[in-house]
Formats: sequence, C-alpha cells, structure tokens
Amino acid sequence: MINNNPKIRVMPDSLASQVAAGEVVESPSSIVKELIENSIDAGAKKIKIIITGGGKILIKVIDDGCGMSREDAILSIERHATSKIKDKKDLTNITTFGFRGEALPSIASVSNFRLITSSNEDMIGTEIIIKGGKLIEVNECGAEVGTQIEVKSLFYNIPARKKFLKSDSAEFSKIERVVIAASLSSPDICYSLYHGKRSVLNLSRSTNFKNRILDLFGADFTEKLIEFSSSDNNGVRLNGFISRPDYNFTSKKYQYLFVNGRYVKYSSINVSIRNAFKGLIDKGMNPALILFINIEPYQVDVNVHPSKEQVKFDKANKVQNFITDTIVESLSSDLKSSNSIVKDLAPLSEMKMISGQIPENGDIQDHSIEFIHNNIYENEKIIDSDEGVTEKKFKVIGVLKKKFILIQNDEGLIIMSKRSAHERVLYEKIFKNLEGDKNLEIQRLLVPLTLDLHTDEFEILFRYELNFQKLGFIYEEFGGNTIKLESVPGFLEVGNIEKFFRNILTEAIENGLDSAKHSSYEFLSGTLANLTSRYYDLNSNQELEKLLEQLLQCDMPYVDTRGRPTLFQLSYNEIEKKLGQK
Ligand code: ADP
Ligand code: MG
Repeated sequence: MINNNPKIRVMPDSLASQVAAGEVVESPSSIVKELIENSIDAGAKKIKIIITGGGKILIKVIDDGCGMSREDAILSIERHATSKIKDKKDLTNITTFGFRGEALPSIASVSNFRLITSSNEDMIGTEIIIKGGKLIEVNECGAEVGTQIEVKSLFYNIPARKKFLKSDSAEFSKIERVVIAASLSSPDICYSLYHGKRSVLNLSRSTNFKNRILDLFGADFTEKLIEFSSSDNNGVRLNGFISRPDYNFTSKKYQYLFVNGRYVKYSSINVSIRNAFKGLIDKGMNPALILFINIEPYQVDVNVHPSKEQVKFDKANKVQNFITDTIVESLSSDLKSSNSIVKDLAPLSEMKMISGQIPENGDIQDHSIEFIHNNIYENEKIIDSDEGVTEKKFKVIGVLKKKFILIQNDEGLIIMSKRSAHERVLYEKIFKNLEGDKNLEIQRLLVPLTLDLHTDEFEILFRYELNFQKLGFIYEEFGGNTIKLESVPGFLEVGNIEKFFRNILTEAIENGLDSAKHSSYEFLSGTLANLTSRYYDLNSNQELEKLLEQLLQCDMPYVDTRGRPTLFQLSYNEIEKKLGQK
C-alpha cells in the first residue's frame, strides 16, 4: 500500500471508462474519507484532520506520508490521474485504497482547494491553488515531507448540492464515523480530529486493534467484546470483535465492517448477524461488531460504487455463512468458558470416572467443555442402567423470590433464573425441531376451542398458517373472523389455552410479525418459549434439577433469548473470601 515513489499517469480513456464513473463527493464525510485514504496510501504515520462548520466551511487533512514532487502534484489534480493502477490487470487486484484518480479533481471542482506537498527532505514543496476546478496558482513553498489538503467553501458553486447538506453537527458526526473507521483499521497510525477548536479525537499509535478500540470507546465497552479470528479453505480470513449478547444497542452505531482494510457498507452483513444472534438478543437490538474480512482481491469487487463504499463478493453466500458460523462459534465458546460453572461443575477426577475418557498425558484443560457435556449425557445413562451408582451432581436447596433457584454442587452454589433457563430450553427444543423440518408433537383438544378474533389476528393466523401448524397449532375458519382451534403443541401444559393462544397472537402483532418475514420461525419459537416459560411453572426439586441438566445440553446454555444470563456459579472459594475465611 505504501507508495514511496509515485509516478502519476493519466489513464487512457478506454481504461478510465471501465472504472465506475461517478461523483466521489457526496458530502464532507466522503471527502474526508478520500483524503484519509490517500494519506494512508502514501504511507502516512500521522494524520491530522481539522474541520470547521461540519466540513462546509473547512476540511483540512495533514499527513506525513511520502508527499509528491511538483510534477506529480500537478498531475494529481487531473482527472483519471493515478499512481496506483496502470492497466486492466491491476483493476482486478486492487491493494491500495485509491485507484480511480478521481478524488482530488472532483473535490477541487466543487470548492476552494489548496494542496501543499513535499517529497524531499530539503523542505522545498509545491503549493497548488484551485478554485471551482480552475487552476489559479502553482507556487514553490517551504514544506515538510508530506501533504496537506485544504477544502474550503464546499459546493459554493453548486447551490443545489449545498442545500442538501445536513446541519453542522449531523455532517460532523458522519465525519467522525469515517475517522473512527479509518483509525480502527489502521491502529498503527496516529489520528487527531478537531471540530472548530474542540479536540474530538486524539489517538496515539497503538500496537494492536484492541488497544485502539480501548482508546476510542473505553474500558467498559472493550471488556464486553469477544475477539475472534478464523479462516476457511477459500482463502477468506475473518478477524475482529463482537459484543457479548447481553451488551447490545438500539442502533448499528457500533458496527464497522472492513474488506481488505477498507471500511465498507455491506448490507448483507445484517443477515449474517441476525442468523448468528438467533434467539440471543431482542428483536431490533444490535450487537457491536468490528469485522475485518480479508479476501483475495479478485474475489471481491470494490468497484460497484463511486466512493467504493459498497462491495460485492464473488461467493456472497459462502462469505455470509462463514461470518455467521464464526460469530456463533466465538459466542458459544466464550459463553461456555466465561461462565465459571463449566470449569467448576465437574472436578477432573469425576470426569474421568464417568466419561471413561482418560486423556493420555493430561492436557485435559482444552477439552473440559466437551467433557462436561458428555458427562451429563453419560450421567443420565448411568443412572438408567445402574441406579444409584453415580452421585447426583446438583441438589436444589432453595428458591429465592420464587424465581431464583439455589443449587448446590461440588464447587459451591449455582444461582439459576428459572424463567430464563426454561425459556432457553424450550426455545432450542422448538427451534431445533422446526429447523430439522420436523413438526412438534401435538395434542388434540378434546373439545375444539371456538375463538372470535380481530381481523388482524385472523389475517396473521392464516398468512402464517404453515408456521403455526409446524408448531402444533391446528385451526380452521369457522365463519367471519372466528376460528376453531383443534390442537396445540404437545409440551404445553397450561391450564388456560385460550388465554395463552390469544397472548401469542397479541405478542405476534405487537412485535410486527408481518415485517419479520425471514425470521418468522425464529420469532414464533421465541415468543412461544417466552410465553410458555411464563405460564408453565416448574416447582418440584426434581423438575428444577432436570431443567438445569437440560439447560446444560443446550447449544447456548448461558443466556436466554434476549441475552440475559441464565445462571452463574458462586464458588466456595468466593464465598469463603467474602466471609473473610480465606
Ligand atoms: P487515487 O487515489 O484514486 O489514485 P486521487 O485523486 O485520490 O486518486 O489522487 C491522485 C493521486 O495523487 C494519487 O494516485 C497519488 O499519487 C497522489 N496523492 C493524492 N493524495 C496524496 C497524499 N496525501 N500524499 C501523496 N500522494 C497523494
Ligand atoms: Mg484517492
């Protein structure tokens, strides 16, 4: 990417026309983006950005990159002049941010533009002044190595465009986002950003991504992130950070996506995120995600949008699924390992005994998660075949506020939220059945229920009849908005089925089932699990112990469908410490 000896050429017309033409200059933030990218391409280690009036009055970007000779500086403001590609072959293998040679001339054509640059140590630089695209002056001047570009009175010559700019603060927040994005993908570069006199960002060089995130968003935020990295066999590499399910946001403000280091918008990422967080966070909430996708340049087209903000992948589905899988894996391994219950549940000696899998030379630690899960299965089997031989692992010793279950195990005390646990178990049961294309078991009502419904309820029922059917609700029209409900899911043991069924409908409508087209199974399963856990109370110790065992067999045992923890372990160690006995 670093370009120490740039030689700018004007592209031949034939090549220029293959580069998606278009205006790079949409708003102050798109200018800032182009200028920062140029600075990075020039190998800058320090980039300073000064903004006045949301960028409408002044945008100034100063870098310490390689700079330009007088000759190159003059060429750089000609259309389709670039030092970064020479022929068609290079277009399919783009490794620099810029490649169109369009940014500087476009910016210079809609502003009062000044460029000062120097590429030599003897401090002799070049100053170029352009007004509305017209070259006014080229001067020699004193300047340090690097480039500084000043864009004043943006769109002064195109009032129609100027009118469409938003308020200073709105334009500035777009600029801030662009700078944050750039700084996230290049932690080794120092960034400073000013709005008027206010210093908004001042980022010193970081040795890694995590430290840059820490500098930008603070410790509380960074603590909630899970770092991940993985690669597939098509040469796609992913790395980045995702927030834990219980830390989520109403907006997508904390989602930044990069393809080969370039900050992009890729709307299909939403599908990947939604699939990964199925049943983990509330509808409408968004995790934080900082994702770097590294892919062979020929497998991705960054040339679909003039400001290169959008990308197209050759194998979009594969990439999407790979992202989903990677997030799911990192979430579940984090949930398992961060929850001390896994480490504490079964002492090693017991694991060996029950599972019969004694590792050769002991690095058992890595597999502890698997072992414990096997363990619970095995445990059940052992009890089946050889009653009483194995000790019980959990013992319910009490209930707090009717909802928190206190469970004793070898390591101390587990506190489990009855509803969250139940909801998770039901959700996975229902959803897995549906995904596996199985219908849930149904129970026929001895006397079918006749229900008068509102028109919207009635419509939803028949629009999603198939989905409801798979869940076990079978009904038919009975004139007007009346239906006859003939069966309900097998696991339902609630007393008041009518009330329960009506609640599902209300919830479905309130939560906009209409708009959740793609995820209606997921949504219905979640609603059903949630409502059932509300209605159907587990109370005996046996039921509650079983609930914990079932919970631990879930794919995502440690959170309910909104990302709230289902349980936590308090070890004897911690208890003793708290009571001053250690
Ligand atoms: P592109 O980045 O697509 O090549 P630009 O119009 O953004 O086109 O820039 C034109 C050329 O000017 C670049 O190819 C580069 O050689 C030179 N240039 C632009 N900005 C800088 C900078 N900050 N430092 C050094 N060279 C620069
Ligand atoms: Mg450029």
